[in-house]
Amino acid sequence: MVIVDSILSTMQAIAARPSLATDVAALIRQEILAGKMRAGERLVESRLAADLGISRAPVREALKLLRAEGLVAEEPRRGAVVVSLTDADVREIYDVRAALEAHAARVLARARRSEDAAALRLLVERIEQAASEGDVHDLYDADLAFHTTVLELTGNSRLLEVFNRSVTALRALISLDEHAYRSLADVAHEHWPLLEVIECGDEEAAARYAEQHVEDGGKHVVDRLRAERAEAEN
Ligand SMILES: [Zn+2]
Repeated sequence: MVIVDSILSTMQAIAARPSLATDVAALIRQEILAGKMRAGERLVESRLAADLGISRAPVREALKLLRAEGLVAEEPRRGAVVVSLTDADVREIYDVRAALEAHAARVLARARRSEDAAALRLLVERIEQAASEGDVHDLYDADLAFHTTVLELTGNSRLLEVFNRSVTALRALISLDEHAYRSLADVAHEHWPLLEVIECGDEEAAARYAEQHVEDGGKHVVDRLRAERAEAEN
C-alpha cells in the first residue's frame, strides 16, 4: 500500500488522540473505498504500523473494526485481507437491502410527512443533476445519500445500522467508473416514482417500488462483477 505524505502527516497529527484505532480504521476504509486497496490485498499489521509511524496495537484494533464491518476478512496463512465477495454474497446483501428499504419506504409512506418528502426531493434533484452532467461520482454519492436518508427518516437507528453495514461491504467492490451504472438517466428517473408513492401515502406501492429498485441494482452489480472477473482472467 502506498501511503501519501498528506495522509502520513494527518496520521501523525492524530497520533496523540485516544481514538487512534478508529482513525486508522477510517483511513484504511477510505483507501479501500477509493479503490486504492483491492479485493484480496493483504493488510499486514506490521507494515501498516510502520507506514503510519504508529505502534501495532491500534492497527490491530482497526482491523478488528473493519472485520466487524465486513470490509476485511481473515484468510488462512495470509492474515487480514480486503474482502472479495462472491455472486452469492452480493445477492444476499441486496436481498437484505431490498427487505430493509421496502420496509423503510412503507414506514415513510405511512407517516406521510411533508418534510421527509422535501428532503428526499432535494436528493432526487441532485441525482438528476449529476446524471445530466454525466458526473458518475456525484450520482453515486447522491444515490447512496437518497437510500441512506430513506432509512434515516424512519427514525429507527438499528435499521440504519444494518443498512450501513451491508452497504459498506458493497462500496468496497464497486469501482466508480461509468460502467457501474446502467444508463445514468434511467437510474435518476427510477427515484421519482418511489418518492411520489411515499408522498401520497401508498404504502404497498412504496414497498414494491423500493424493493424493485434495489433488486434491479443488485442484478446489475452481479453482472458487472462477473464481467470484471472475466476480464481479469483474459
Ligand atoms: Zn437508487
